[in-house]
Amino acid sequence: MQYCRFCDDYTGVRFIFLKGGIAYFKCSNCGLIFTTSGTEHPLVNYDRAYYLRDTRRYFPEPGTPSYERMRRGWMKRIRRLKAHARGRRLLDVGCGTGMFISIALEEGFDAWGFEVQSAAEIAAQNSSIKGRIYTGESLECLKGETFNVLTMWGVLEHLDSPALILGGVGKLLNKGGIFALSTPNISSMNRWLFGTKWRFFIPSEHVIHFNKENLKKGLEQAGFRIVKINTVFSQPALREGLYSLNTVMRHIFMILAIPLLWLFRRPLEWIGLGDTLEIIAVLR
Ligand SMILES: [Zn+2]
Repeated sequence: MQYCRFCDDYTGVRFIFLKGGIAYFKCSNCGLIFTTSGTEHPLVNYDRAYYLRDTRRYFPEPGTPSYERMRRGWMKRIRRLKAHARGRRLLDVGCGTGMFISIALEEGFDAWGFEVQSAAEIAAQNSSIKGRIYTGESLECLKGETFNVLTMWGVLEHLDSPALILGGVGKLLNKGGIFALSTPNISSMNRWLFGTKWRFFIPSEHVIHFNKENLKKGLEQAGFRIVKINTVFSQPALREGLYSLNTVMRHIFMILAIPLLWLFRRPLEWIGLGDTLEIIAVLR
């Protein structure tokens, strides 16, 4: 019997598909999609090699076009945080090699990071954020510390006890503190188009998948009020999805779909069909 990792219900949990040998389940009570592998028995070892591999993809070298593209994305998020935050003390949970922290520092935030040991070592090599990374197995090690802003970019989907995490975040925030997060959106257009082949169904790493409604509800139950919610379309998700189709379908799709989608990307994001959910919530 499978219990939902979010609402603990088991009556509505059903098997939906298998990917990479991992079973995916859906809870009809809360809408969560989850796998049977969790952080207790992680399939991926979040070690030094994992972060070094990710460094190339998510933390490119300064000065390169991908760095500049990524920087623009971070700046957009920082501008939103500035609009809502009442103070500048910020904690980035799951900070990886710390690119977001260095940009937040430049933008006037008193920014700190939290990471598991292996990644914290890599972040420590970044001189602009030296001494600003907390490390430990859980957020418990930050007990007693408080922040005005807590960010979790692409972290929640890696953890198997979301309700516990969302509850723990509140304890680290001052009253009126901001919680900002991003996570894949199972109600996205690319997920509907490509099904199990969707880029963000990564069986070894992503163990839980939210939609707008259940994440919103979870945050409200954890004492937050949602102030902004939007979705972001992923071009790589569309490209990867197309490559998973057969040749004929792929060509038809490429000729018709790409220009059309590019034109309608913003409206798609606006109606909530982007690949990533971005939420800003305030602690009540
Ligand atoms: Zn559920």
